[in-house]
Amino acid sequence: MIFAFICGVICILFGFVQYGKYSENKGKSSISKIFIPILVGLGLIGIKLIPIPFFKESKTIEDEEVRIILLGGPGAGKGTQAKFLAEKYNIPAISTGDILREVAKQDTEIGKKVKETMESGNLVSDDIIVELLKKRIAQEDGKSGYLLDGFPRKLSQAEALRKEGIEIDYVIDIQVDDDVIVERLGGRRIHASSGRTYHVKNNPPKVPGVDDITGEPLTQRADDQEETIRNRLRIYHENTAPLVDYYQDASRKGGENSPKYKKIDSSNNIELVKESIFNFIDFSD
Ligand code: AMP
Repeated sequence: MIFAFICGVICILFGFVQYGKYSENKGKSSISKIFIPILVGLGLIGIKLIPIPFFKESKTIEDEEVRIILLGGPGAGKGTQAKFLAEKYNIPAISTGDILREVAKQDTEIGKKVKETMESGNLVSDDIIVELLKKRIAQEDGKSGYLLDGFPRKLSQAEALRKEGIEIDYVIDIQVDDDVIVERLGGRRIHASSGRTYHVKNNPPKVPGVDDITGEPLTQRADDQEETIRNRLRIYHENTAPLVDYYQDASRKGGENSPKYKKIDSSNNIELVKESIFNFIDFSD
């Protein structure tokens, strides 16, 4: 496009040069030598300035604002896929679990309340989480889109999104069997200060119980105990069933602002899951 613009400017200049020659020896130079380059020049500049669909520069999905919700029970692999998506579409992956874990560290009334709720595996109240999320999305990096991991968790939160005018383009529902999740989360071990994660069977540290890099002890998240996991799964299924219906319905009806919904089986390997998600986003328009 910029090439067309430059050629247009050159043609116009050429027309003016011809005009100069024409004025010097009137009659000998043809007047068409002036108007043709000027008209061609204006035409070429017009291609650059007028948004003619045929000439429009092709825009890829990576240039657009992409707003995604990742649904999926605890341990479904949302965090891993969130990282891939954030990188590809250059958007922040916003995990409400992470935001709340930070709040839970604070020695405040709200910090204590959040910590207690999280350790029991129950859901933090909507008013607290909606306020925190609104603040996070309003940050500079949220202007190019965002990925919500762990929000909404129930119908009232999806409705809060709509009320707040927080738009969503894609809802990706990552599904795995409960027993697979219990096995995945129950074996998860974390190096608290770096966030490095291990799995006692699938990704064990070199020495059991200690971090490979620092040699410091690994810990288990309080909410990764089997009993708590089962409770989190029960809560997840109870709350998300209506949420899934809500987004499936909206997607089926279509309409300008309704998000597109897709269910993805995450018992496949990580790369295959990633490919299915990318294909859905890139080719669903
Ligand atoms: P996660 O890391 O997403 O598994 O979240 C850990 C815990 O944070 C959950 O068990 C809930 O107690 C709390 N939590 C995270 N997201 C939400 C949410 N959208 N609504 C309410 N509580 C949440």
